[in-house]
Amino acid sequence: MRVRFWGTRGSIAKPGPTTLRTGGNTSCVEVRADDGTLVVLDCGTGAYALGRALTGNGADPVHGHLLIGHTHWDHIQGFPFFEPLFVPGNRWGVYAPGGRGRQLEESLAGQMAYEYSPINLGALRASVGFHDLTEGSFELGGIRVRAQYLNHPALTLGYRLEADGAVLVYATDHEPHSLHPRGACAGATPIHHEDRRHARFLEGADLVVHDAQYTLEEFPGKAGWGHTPMERAVDYAILARARRLALFHHDPERDDAAVERIAVRAQERAAEAEWTPAIVAAREGEAIELGGGARPRPEPALGSALLAAASRRPDCVLLVDDDPDMLALLAASLEIEGVRVVTAHDGDAALGVARGESPTLVVLDMHLPGRDGLEVCRALRADPDPRLADVPILMLTGEKLKETDLVDAFVAGATDYLTKPIKPTLVRSRVRGWLLRTHRRP
Ligand SMILES: [Zn+2]
Ligand SMILES: [Zn+2]
Repeated sequence: MRVRFWGTRGSIAKPGPTTLRTGGNTSCVEVRADDGTLVVLDCGTGAYALGRALTGNGADPVHGHLLIGHTHWDHIQGFPFFEPLFVPGNRWGVYAPGGRGRQLEESLAGQMAYEYSPINLGALRASVGFHDLTEGSFELGGIRVRAQYLNHPALTLGYRLEADGAVLVYATDHEPHSLHPRGACAGATPIHHEDRRHARFLEGADLVVHDAQYTLEEFPGKAGWGHTPMERAVDYAILARARRLALFHHDPERDDAAVERIAVRAQERAAEAEWTPAIVAAREGEAIELGGGARPRPEPALGSALLAAASRRPDCVLLVDDDPDMLALLAASLEIEGVRVVTAHDGDAALGVARGESPTLVVLDMHLPGRDGLEVCRALRADPDPRLADVPILMLTGEKLKETDLVDAFVAGATDYLTKPIKPTLVRSRVRGWLLRTHRRP
C-alpha cells in the first residue's frame, strides 16, 4: 500500500513561504493498493493537484473511491476542482458519514450552489455514486475499509484501510472524549471508554495519520473545537502499538519550523514509552510505502458501513436536566436533527418518562434534585425492559469535573459523557453518532 500526502493543513489553506516544507493545502491523502485500487481520503484543497496528476496523461480512465471524513470546508473544498470527476468514462464512488438520506449529495451540491460556484454538481461528467456511511466495514477493490466515529462538532468518521498485509488508519478531526488521566505518563490508558475504543481502532497500524492540531498547553482555549493535542495523538499510537505516526491537520497558525518543533516534542514523548512509534509531521508531497507482511488479524464481526436510503426509524431522545435553559438549548440543537425530544426535570420524572416512551437515547445530567443522575442510570440499567437496560446514556457532568466522577459514571452504566459548558454542535454530532450506532444493533 502506498500513501501520498497532497494536503496536510487543517481548517484553512495556508500557502506561502512559511509553509513550503509541510505544505499549505488542506486535507487530502492518496492511497494505492497493489491491485491498483485507488482511495482518496478527504477532498480538501490538496485534491486539486492530485486530480491534475491523475488525469495528466489524458488517456486512461481513472476510477477511484473518495472517502470523506466529514463535510467541513477544509475537507471538501477541493471537490469542485477534482478533475477526475469531470472526465466522461471515469467511475467514482464518494463516501461520507450520513444518516438522513441523500445528505452527502446535498452537502456537496450546497457547496456548488449558484451563489458559491460557477459549476454545480450536475456538471460532473464521470459516473459518480454517493454513499452515506455509518460505523462498520466494507470492501473497495482489494482494500478492506473499517469506519468508526470520531469526536468532532460534525458527524465524522475515521477510516482504517487494510490491504496487502498493511494497515493505514486515517483519523483526523477528533477530540479526545476526556483528557483523564491528566498528567499521566506517555501511553497511559485513558479513562473514557470511547478513548480506549479509539486506541483499539488504531491497533497494530503500520501508519496512523492523526489529527494533532494543538498541544496540551494550548488545549484549554480550544476544547470543544474537535481536535487532538499532539501529546494524546502520541499516546494513542503508543497504546495501539502503531509502527508509525504522521502528525496531521497542522494548525494554520504554525509555520514549518513550528510544525517541526512539535514533531520533535512528539518524538521525545514517545521515546519515554515502552513502545516507540516512528513519528513525523505529515508533509505535502511526501509518499510513504507501507511494507506488507503483517499477520492477518482476526476481524471483529462488523455490519456493513453502507447505509441504505431512509433506513432510519424515528428517534426519541429523553433529555433530563433541572436547568430549563440547558433543556431548551439541548432540545433546539437536537430537533434540527429531526428527532423527537421528550424532557424531564428530575430523576423520578426521568424514570417515568423513560418507561413510558422507551427512548432511543438518554441525555442525563449528573446532578439532579432528588434521585441524582447516577441513581437514574443504575435504575435504568436494572430495568427488566431490555430497551431501557441497554439504552445508550450520555451523561452531562459539571464544570468542576473530578476523575472519580467519571469513574462513578461509567460504573453506574453511563455509555458516554460530556462536560459542561457544552457546545451544541458537539452534542448534536455525538447524539447523532449514538443514534446511528443504535440502529445497527441486531
Ligand atoms: Zn478539518
Ligand atoms: Zn472539521
